[in-house]
Amino acid sequence: MPAKKAKKATKKAVKRKSVKSVKYSYDFGQKTDGSSKLRELLGGKGANLAEMARIGLPVPPGFTITTDVCTYFYDHGRQYPKTLASEVKASVAQIEKEVGKKLGAAKNPLLLSVRSGARESMPGMMDTILNLGLNDKTVKALAKESGNAAFAYDCYRRFIQMYGDVVMGVQALNENDHCPFEGILEKLRKEAGVELDNELTAKDLKELIKRYKAVIKQRTGTAFPQDAYEQLWGSVSAVFNSWQNERAILYRQKYGIPAAWGTAVNVQAMVFGNMGDNCATGVAFTRDPANGEKVFYGEYLINAQGEDVVAGIRTPNAIAELKREMPKAHADLEAVRKKLEKHFKDMQDFEFTVEDGKLWMLQTRNGKRTGLAAVRIAVELVKEKLIDQKTALLKIPADSISSLLVAVFDPAAVAKAKTLTTGLPAGPGAASGKICFTAPEAEKVAAKGGRAILCRVETTPEDLRGMIAAEGILTSRGGVSSHAALVARQMNKVCVCGAAEVVINYAKETLKIGKKTFNNGDDISIDGTTGEIFAGAVATAPSEVDQVLNGKLKAQDSYTYQMYNQVMKWADKHRKLRVRTNADSPDQAKSAIAYGAQGIGLCRTEHMFFEGDRITFMRQMILAADEKQRRAALRKLLPFQRKDFTGLFKAMGGLPVTVRLLDPPLHEFLPHDDSSKRELAKSLGVKVDVISKRVHALHESNPMLGHRGCRLGISYPEITEMQARAIFEAAAACYKLKKPIKVIPEVMIPLVGFADELKNQVSVVHRVAAEVMEKKGVKFKYLVGTMIEVPRGALTADEIAETAEFFSFGTNDLTQTGLGMSRDDAGSFLGQYKDLDILPQNPFASIDAAGVGQLVEIGVQKGRSAKNNLKLGVCGEHGGDPASIKFFHNAGLDYVSCSPPRVPVARLAAAQSALK
Ligand code: PEP
Ligand code: MG
Repeated sequence: MPAKKAKKATKKAVKRKSVKSVKYSYDFGQKTDGSSKLRELLGGKGANLAEMARIGLPVPPGFTITTDVCTYFYDHGRQYPKTLASEVKASVAQIEKEVGKKLGAAKNPLLLSVRSGARESMPGMMDTILNLGLNDKTVKALAKESGNAAFAYDCYRRFIQMYGDVVMGVQALNENDHCPFEGILEKLRKEAGVELDNELTAKDLKELIKRYKAVIKQRTGTAFPQDAYEQLWGSVSAVFNSWQNERAILYRQKYGIPAAWGTAVNVQAMVFGNMGDNCATGVAFTRDPANGEKVFYGEYLINAQGEDVVAGIRTPNAIAELKREMPKAHADLEAVRKKLEKHFKDMQDFEFTVEDGKLWMLQTRNGKRTGLAAVRIAVELVKEKLIDQKTALLKIPADSISSLLVAVFDPAAVAKAKTLTTGLPAGPGAASGKICFTAPEAEKVAAKGGRAILCRVETTPEDLRGMIAAEGILTSRGGVSSHAALVARQMNKVCVCGAAEVVINYAKETLKIGKKTFNNGDDISIDGTTGEIFAGAVATAPSEVDQVLNGKLKAQDSYTYQMYNQVMKWADKHRKLRVRTNADSPDQAKSAIAYGAQGIGLCRTEHMFFEGDRITFMRQMILAADEKQRRAALRKLLPFQRKDFTGLFKAMGGLPVTVRLLDPPLHEFLPHDDSSKRELAKSLGVKVDVISKRVHALHESNPMLGHRGCRLGISYPEITEMQARAIFEAAAACYKLKKPIKVIPEVMIPLVGFADELKNQVSVVHRVAAEVMEKKGVKFKYLVGTMIEVPRGALTADEIAETAEFFSFGTNDLTQTGLGMSRDDAGSFLGQYKDLDILPQNPFASIDAAGVGQLVEIGVQKGRSAKNNLKLGVCGEHGGDPASIKFFHNAGLDYVSCSPPRVPVARLAAAQSALK
């Protein structure tokens, strides 16, 4: 935990401690202390177990040790508050009373599960212990009472295995080693001549237990503990410790979960799905989490424990089959499904166990879903009148809108491709890439800019890094709620899982489907919407939304588009921020308009100087010996610029267009290798030497802080003049069209830090505007404003606002200059800054609210103090980032501007900012 956060957390804990009776353990069951309102304290799982108990759902009794204890634990050298032990004892006694069993008793022993439960769910990242309370004595009682000795000894061996691994650290020694327990189990299966664990007899299992205990003793020097309370505290500590394990830390970093939140620990009476064929265990969703459809979706295993379903060891049955196998349990589950949605008003993901035909609920939470499902579920919950429009908007993570815009396979390409096999569709979208068998390989491929498909028999949390790096994930085992499926959905990754015909051989690095063998690095394509797998790299096609927007598909034929459109309409009704786009070409502008952009917030004119002959004229301009030569080159550039602006104005059809004058340092346009220098020398009729000298003269040590932005226009006013002329002549041309387009150009001066810099440039712009209007015989409105992208600009915004008619915050440069961190070089250390929690996220992606954000706020406040109707926007990359958009909304900006595909995301994020 970072020092500052830890200090705060300690203060909080001390404050709570000083209140006389701090409660650390909350019961649920017949006696329920908590509710879903206490999520921060009880974690998601604990709060919802309490809530389910409150609304009368069948929950095995238990208790939750609060997240405050986790904070205390880490602040006090992994010790517990003094009063915790007696509270835990009382809570265990309450369970004993409710179920009529006793922990550690030789008759009717109570067995417990111990599970983590943070405020936000972190699937599979922390530790779990099941069947706690079993020892050499209680196992005999369980065998007798259940009438099933094999079951009892299987529970015991599972407990020893979990406890040995998680609490006592008996694990694989390195990457190439096997889990010692699995090795022993496999050997014993062979000796017993059976294939599956559940074919082992009680005698086999007793032998297995003996060997398990021996390996624990041998590895740790300590015997497996027989005392139930020792087991309980060992397990509770293991769960708290797992809050700081490597994968939990990585997961928190990815999803921005603060370490200071801590986890709660849930201790609960065990119910058994593995006591025979009238028992089952499963995971279900009240709707389909992959596409959001309102169908009962899930899977179960007969005669199994919960972990078997999630671990993907046996491929489970679809929930619909339960209707045939256990009609009563299925009907009970249907009733639970309805009650849960009605109560929680959202799609739920729940775990259940059927013990001797009786249904028990072990967990419920708002189900993780794909972006597509998030949109569909929100829209349909409104239709079903379970939630209102505003709630629906707040339920859809703004970023998930982009998954409606993701690629699908190109219909023509996929028609030609042969489906090799089909797995379970677990994360929609189309992906193709190189087969990688390990997470590090996938990371390597992605680091080189390639696309990886991570192919695993099944994934585990250790594969997280590879899953983040990969385009798609393919597994041969495991169901739709396996780790691979859950994590992929949450990351919006394309995922196909449980493709049983796929045979992966890690040692040989091959993937076989039927007779076809693929090797490491071969191309493969997967469709996470249908589950299909194809050989080679199948070309992808734009999303349905894009196809409708481009007129290639009719709106009435695409439900996805209709949902998208509905959400966008709602968003537009509620948002205050306008959304513009950063676009430099008519094509980009058109695509942004289709996505709902309300103008161009930034046209970077330098992007227009690279095509064809333009770069030559640009170079002539830069290398000119004097103003005369420079003006001659600029005259050649003028028609190109005018044409570009006319195209842009036409594409925008009268919507505002902000054109920024030349910004980058000039050397960016010059040739640096010898052959380009020779070519340029030839075209200019000068010696190569001249070019080399000029290139050398233009070299700067810190070009980003050098001769760029308005400094160029101040040194060479003729550049500003040419660009202003091109803009105004293009505008005049639009006014003179048969169907005039009433363009109001907005000319933007970059990198202003001094009011006089702006004054200098504005006078050139005004003079040219007057000349053009006079010459062309048209009058039109235009604005001249500035970017606020250096701290001095923000700090003296009142002086600058006297001349500026608008500000656009250039938060890319404002971050660079505000933090003194090069936007081009920061990548080399930002990763470490994130790991060390120095920065919660990349400040170039999401605004540093406390630092750079203050500069924005000062700029807003000072700017408006001088000119209260000053138009304010932002055009840095942050304009498309939901968290930053919220900041800009609160800061009082009028609009954000972002790249075209981020426009829908920004529309939704803007609405959410207005609603929160
Ligand atoms: C900025 O600095 O935020 C900006 C939009 O300008 P550029 O990225 O072109 O420097
Ligand atoms: Mg900039």
